[in-house]
Amino acid sequence: MRRFTQNLVLALFGAVTSAITAAILVLVELKWGMVFYSHTIWGIIPLGAGGAGLAAASGYYFGSRLLNIRPGRDLVVGITAISAGTFFFIYWLKYVFMTVDGRQVSDGIRYWDFLNYTITHTALKFGIGAVFFDGSVNIGPGGGYLFAALQILGFAFGGYVIYMYLVRLPYCENCGLFFKDKGSQTRYFPDTNTATASTKEFLAKVDTKRFQDSIQTHAKTGAAKPSGQKMFKSSIELKRCDGCEKHYLHFGVKRWVNSKKWKNITEWNYSTYLMERVIVRP
Ligand SMILES: [Zn+2]
Repeated sequence: MRRFTQNLVLALFGAVTSAITAAILVLVELKWGMVFYSHTIWGIIPLGAGGAGLAAASGYYFGSRLLNIRPGRDLVVGITAISAGTFFFIYWLKYVFMTVDGRQVSDGIRYWDFLNYTITHTALKFGIGAVFFDGSVNIGPGGGYLFAALQILGFAFGGYVIYMYLVRLPYCENCGLFFKDKGSQTRYFPDTNTATASTKEFLAKVDTKRFQDSIQTHAKTGAAKPSGQKMFKSSIELKRCDGCEKHYLHFGVKRWVNSKKWKNITEWNYSTYLMERVIVRP
């Protein structure tokens, strides 16, 4: 029940940002004639709706981080429903605020008729905007419904992306809370030998559960600042759970490649959960 309520709260955050996004989209459309959410690539990839969907879904992110609630699977259902709702809300706003020849659209036609008419008379511009074709193609009633479904999916996409991002963040299984950053430590090494020696020493200590000792030893190896061309760096990241004091420790080693980017050395990655209140200083 608690999990369900938490997801409901997150859904509410998402619903609010979705409604705000919808209002902005309709305002821009009615005032300046720009329709972002129906922009597609080749008529099928709903780029505009995807982008608008990300903005609309920002609420799931803020809610989750602010209240420290990790989303559950129920939220996927909520995201899909809210995305569909956003689509109908956009057309409802247009229905209420649109005027034709000085007359309010809502005076002459019912909402569902307006929606049905708009969907079945969708004319698509292929390409991004009208780059590839100058002129639009009427896709017929069936195509119109398909396009509407595609737009809803585009909206939902933003929500799914944020959901996937959030569930991959480290969290405490006991409390359902995200871990909070407690500190980090990075050391730089000029060559393979010093990096290997430091890493082996660190890994040997954590293997025997001497965590605080391993962090202090790590701090004494290498240098605090980068130097040279054939560089390595190793970092310790420490996170903790507010609920039960469980700690999460991650260690990773990276190599400086082609003078432009850090490449992870995956076989030296190490991470663990511990109940010991260890500390780490930069
Ligand atoms: Zn916990």
